[in-house]
Amino acid sequence: MTEPADSTGDLIPLAVVVTTPAYSGLGPALTYVHDRALEPGTLVRVPLGKRELLGLVWDAPGLSLEGLEPGQVRPVLQVLDAIPPLNANWRGLASFAARYYQRSLGEVALAALPPQLRDLQPEQLARKLKRLAKAAGTEHLAPESVPMGEATTAPGLSPEQAESLQRFQQADRPALLFGTTGSGKTEVYLRAVQDLLEQDTLAQALIMVPEINLTPQLEARFTERFARWGVVSLHSGLTPAQRLDHWLLAHQGQARIVLGTRMAIFASLPRLRLIVVDEEHDPSYKSQEGARYSARDLAIYRARLESQGRASSHCRVLLGSATPSLESWRAAELGRYLRLDMPQRIGGGALPRLRLVDMNHQPKQCVIAPPLVSAIAERAARGEQSMILLNRRGYAPVLACHACRWKSDCPHCSAHAVFHKIDRTLRCHHCGHSSRVPYACPDCGNLDIAPVGRGTEQLEEQLAGLLADARRADGGPIRVLRLDADSTRAKGSLEQRLGQMHEGEFDLLVGTQMIAKGHDFRRITLVAAVNPDGGLFASDYRAPERLFALLLQAAGRAGRDAEFVAAQGAAVELWVQTWYPAHPLFAALARQDYPAFATQQLQEREAALMPPYSFQALVRAEARTQEAAQALLNLAAQAGEPLPGRQHLTLYPAVPMAIQRLANVERAQLLIESDSRPALQAFLTAWQEQLQLARSQPEAKGVLRWAIDVDPLAI
Ligand code: ADP
Ligand code: ZN
Ligand code: ZN
Repeated sequence: MTEPADSTGDLIPLAVVVTTPAYSGLGPALTYVHDRALEPGTLVRVPLGKRELLGLVWDAPGLSLEGLEPGQVRPVLQVLDAIPPLNANWRGLASFAARYYQRSLGEVALAALPPQLRDLQPEQLARKLKRLAKAAGTEHLAPESVPMGEATTAPGLSPEQAESLQRFQQADRPALLFGTTGSGKTEVYLRAVQDLLEQDTLAQALIMVPEINLTPQLEARFTERFARWGVVSLHSGLTPAQRLDHWLLAHQGQARIVLGTRMAIFASLPRLRLIVVDEEHDPSYKSQEGARYSARDLAIYRARLESQGRASSHCRVLLGSATPSLESWRAAELGRYLRLDMPQRIGGGALPRLRLVDMNHQPKQCVIAPPLVSAIAERAARGEQSMILLNRRGYAPVLACHACRWKSDCPHCSAHAVFHKIDRTLRCHHCGHSSRVPYACPDCGNLDIAPVGRGTEQLEEQLAGLLADARRADGGPIRVLRLDADSTRAKGSLEQRLGQMHEGEFDLLVGTQMIAKGHDFRRITLVAAVNPDGGLFASDYRAPERLFALLLQAAGRAGRDAEFVAAQGAAVELWVQTWYPAHPLFAALARQDYPAFATQQLQEREAALMPPYSFQALVRAEARTQEAAQALLNLAAQAGEPLPGRQHLTLYPAVPMAIQRLANVERAQLLIESDSRPALQAFLTAWQEQLQLARSQPEAKGVLRWAIDVDPLAI
């Protein structure tokens, strides 16, 4: 902390950012005073009203107390100066994210810090730091103890991996590693990290993964090899204390590798030189609440920021996927990203062959086609494993009356409540409302009410019946493992179940999206998608892209161990049950031809002027009535006519959201489209005030809140 030479006991004004509601009118930073200057990025505790809040000293050149009464400006209460201030790059990232995603700086900056920091007294923090430093000394976290080039278990790289790594290291722009599933992308990440940390004894690397359930696996792989460099994770599954510890270790440079989900993009990493975004196409990189940021897009921005003014040791960024997002694919086509291709699987294993099952020619009412059942049974008998992927959408069973048209609707949402057989309840998956299954149809009294559609529970039950006579290699009955959000809620249970699957205790794995990603299963030779059709015709224009990615990801779980496949003489297959076998998406899938699929999708997007050929923002409003929600949006749209950038935009009329009512709240949305990102940004920034004003109009009475989603993923 620097003490100005002319400090004469005068109070020095400071700009401090605190969490304020987005539209409170309090401005980006509040003014406080302190008896000495504090560097921007310093953590402080300040009073606001009757509360005491964590705040961040922010840059405010030329801030003065002129025009303010003494006593009008309150003093800083405490300075958390045991830790270094958050540096300029970190502050730059937070400012950018707030501006770009149209949220308040306080909300973004403070939400990016570990929650426990908010409640810590300076002495508590100092004690914690001492403890961490001690642990770091003994657990080889200290940078000095790094043995250079120590023998690791790293395998020799394949020619494709070696070439990709080399081109990445020479690249002057973000790289897109387009590698098929099992091509060894993770090994490339590991090597990139290793090379960097060996060359630069202070450098740090950030590795991002889409799902928390993938972090333990990857974390194990990283810690195994790099424990000596300090590997920490950041994700929502940590306890508040762990999250603070990990954050502090990264902030102080003791942890040189941070592995995390989207929140990790805001980790404080003073010597960040490499960002890896694994499965960069994954929608979970986009936040769906608060500041709706895209961690992938921020990774690109952050790398650029960290590189400024640093010619030789700039911060590199590597996006990896077998099915890149169309945005990234297009960026590579334009030369903004460098594309690195790895089409071969490690060990020369073949990708699964596609087997389409035409559901038009299967027995009526069948959920799993008989040939697929036989194929699963045959594999189990040979000691191979299979996996069935369920599309959750359209698969939840609702109760229906066959006499009238009653369906088990949620009383609070415009959505169906789902039938849960285990405890005989109807549950709304949107608002959580739960009720007992009625004895008879509430509308007509008919006793014959039955589930339509089938969920995971029922599928498991049916499968058990279908596979009752089948035997596994040891002669016992077939063992089915079901994995979904319901069955893995208990902490650690997912890891445990996956471990059992890896060890071959189960013959068949049934589950939703979560089983399709990332896992390095060794004995699976058959993957089946039993109800993918929803993704072919959904109103969301990104649905085909997602379906293709999901199916290819899922397919990638099969045949990963080429030696096992060869020894078994197994046929590695992806089975897809569909009512539309002639759909072009399946033709591209059969050829495993992502480039062809991407080209076709991009042509459609270009013709329709959809992203990445245009830029979008979605404004959502919630109100007591649908009219009020729409009125707010439409009034603000009218008021926005003269604003900057408006002539480059299309504002569509407000419409109800797909789920129009949620927990008794009506929801509407308005889409804004533009061919110019700067015009869209300029407009949105100026428009916030109009939205705020529209809220006080009588037509908008009952509006609860509204939010802007920039680059929305689903519209
Ligand atoms: P991806 O991330 O592209 O799906 P992985 O990195 O998980 O692929 O690699 C697939 C499998 O191949 C893993 O079991 C990994 O340990 C193994 N592997 C990767 N690279 C090599 C290599 N150069 N030599 C031997 N095995 C490798
Ligand atoms: Zn009825
Ligand atoms: Zn509901």
